[in-house]
Amino acid sequence: MPELPEVETTRRGVAPHITGRKILNVNVYEPRLRWPVPADLPAAAEGKTVQDVTRRAKYLLINLGENELLFHLGMSGNLRIVAPETPRMKHDHVDILLEGDITLRYNDPRRFGCLLLLNPPTQEHPLLRHLGPEPLSDQFSGELLYKLSRQRKSPIKTFLMDQAIVVGVGNIYANEALFLAGIRPTRPAGEVSLKRYQALAEAVRKVLSDAINMGGTTLRDFVGGDGKPGYFQQTLRAYGRGGQPCILCNTELKEIKLGQRASVFCPSCQR
Ligand SMILES: [Zn+2]
Repeated sequence: MPELPEVETTRRGVAPHITGRKILNVNVYEPRLRWPVPADLPAAAEGKTVQDVTRRAKYLLINLGENELLFHLGMSGNLRIVAPETPRMKHDHVDILLEGDITLRYNDPRRFGCLLLLNPPTQEHPLLRHLGPEPLSDQFSGELLYKLSRQRKSPIKTFLMDQAIVVGVGNIYANEALFLAGIRPTRPAGEVSLKRYQALAEAVRKVLSDAINMGGTTLRDFVGGDGKPGYFQQTLRAYGRGGQPCILCNTELKEIKLGQRASVFCPSCQR
């Protein structure tokens, strides 16, 4: 599943190719994504110039001036840049043709992603309105986590994955950040000290920016015929390593379910 680093890598991969170009044509071959692609979207986009491509949480926003296109990659979606004559493959659902013979093509085998049209004020859209701060922005900090967590009895991992607290910390990165910060995923969020939240915020920044930097090596894969861009292998310290030795102390890592999600921790390093 594309997580925040993959979405950011996708943004960096496609933005240079489409920014400043006019949209000539939008072809929706399969509108039945997670939500139907709005019937008025092609007409609203055609003739507009892409002002910039930004990201909010795991949403990609293509700014067209007065309105915006919003993509979500869902479980299995990807965007790539192809030549317009490139034959469509199975699960290629949307083509956005831009001047300069460039096509932005959306592929999504499971169709859990979406393409929506946002009218101003775009940041007030129901999908965006209640989102917490970006983890790599100055608005995110240990102080913020500490303040928001007081009196909370929910496990810290559940708290950290709450999109109203901070966006884009998916299951993999929550496991990794808690491992780095030495905090047990089950610890009630309200019991964790400011100092430990500062370490956790630092760890969240590190695991996400390391993954984004790794994604940078795949940027060239965004251009081409049938390449599947953007999902990269990473070195994971905790996630997926239940039953294996801790890289710090050799203790066997423990795997439990927390809010239906796999949670791996070191019983010795994480308290
Ligand atoms: Zn350990």
